[in-house]
Amino acid sequence: MHLMELPREVILGENLKDKVNEVAKRLKLSERVLILYGKRTKEIAGSEVERHLRKEFIVYSLTIKGATMDEVKRVVNLIENEDIGWIIGVGGGSIIDVAKLASFRKGIPFISFPTTASHDGIASANASIKDLGARTSIKARPPIAIIADVKVIKTAPYRFLAAGVGDMISNLTAVKDWQLAHKLKGEYYSEYAASLSLMSAKMVIKNADIIRLGNEESVRKVVKGLISSGVAMSIAGSSRPASGAEHLFSHALDMLLEKPALHGEQCGVGTIIMAYLHGLNWKKIRDTLKRVDAPTNAYELGIEPEYIVEALTIAHTIRPNRYTILGKEGLTREAAEKAAKITGVI
Ligand SMILES: [Zn+2]
Repeated sequence: MHLMELPREVILGENLKDKVNEVAKRLKLSERVLILYGKRTKEIAGSEVERHLRKEFIVYSLTIKGATMDEVKRVVNLIENEDIGWIIGVGGGSIIDVAKLASFRKGIPFISFPTTASHDGIASANASIKDLGARTSIKARPPIAIIADVKVIKTAPYRFLAAGVGDMISNLTAVKDWQLAHKLKGEYYSEYAASLSLMSAKMVIKNADIIRLGNEESVRKVVKGLISSGVAMSIAGSSRPASGAEHLFSHALDMLLEKPALHGEQCGVGTIIMAYLHGLNWKKIRDTLKRVDAPTNAYELGIEPEYIVEALTIAHTIRPNRYTILGKEGLTREAAEKAAKITGVI
């Protein structure tokens, strides 16, 4: 049996802060709701969404400080104590991740109200949570609805949108890694999920010049692509279609660095290197990232070259069950350095 869980509603448009009530009613969500936001996302959209919710629901709120297990526990406790029926997460990465995992643990639905379009977690089933110092991706459930307000997302710095492109372009190497694992390890492979994921990547390559404008049209393109990526993962039942060696590289950097770059920025640079290892057209990938003004090398990421090489050599250890182009042994130091130099990353 293969279970595919998908969002029931995806709403993309302008001025949607007052549309949450309608969506919740259509989905027959109960009257006790918890809204999560961060300090900044509360100002950007959270408090207004909350104000509208209060007209028709019993609303509890929490300001989330980061994507950590402690924060997830704090939310879970509140769900239990106040008999919360559903959650809405208003924010970028961390808030959505905490909402996703806490709601999953308690078996209640959650609505994703993204304030940035920097990664496909806004629509996926996976939550990236920091626990005992390490960031891990935990399988949860996709949001029951995604409400993407283009005007809200546009207020985020352009850098986040460019990072979203990096997260999508990584689908190119993720799918290659998946095919490899299918052929060499007999892993389950879904052609439908792979095609959908590749479509997002091809779409950003085609629309790079529109995306770089950073206008509402750009936000729409990126959000749609990220949602398709998330849906591809839901169809596959794993993050395989959108997460391969380039993601392991990014996770390795997160582990090594106090202040890593954005997830999508690191994944984009990782994609250049992994595309080179796969024998793909890595120049075209680098070109697309350049066109949207996303980082393509260590300097632009603000990361010392030595960490890039180090991350490349340890990436295969991050998630040993995820077979990729890096194999079981990973890259030697020399090979890592060579790949990074040839592709101009260091
Ligand atoms: Zn990602």
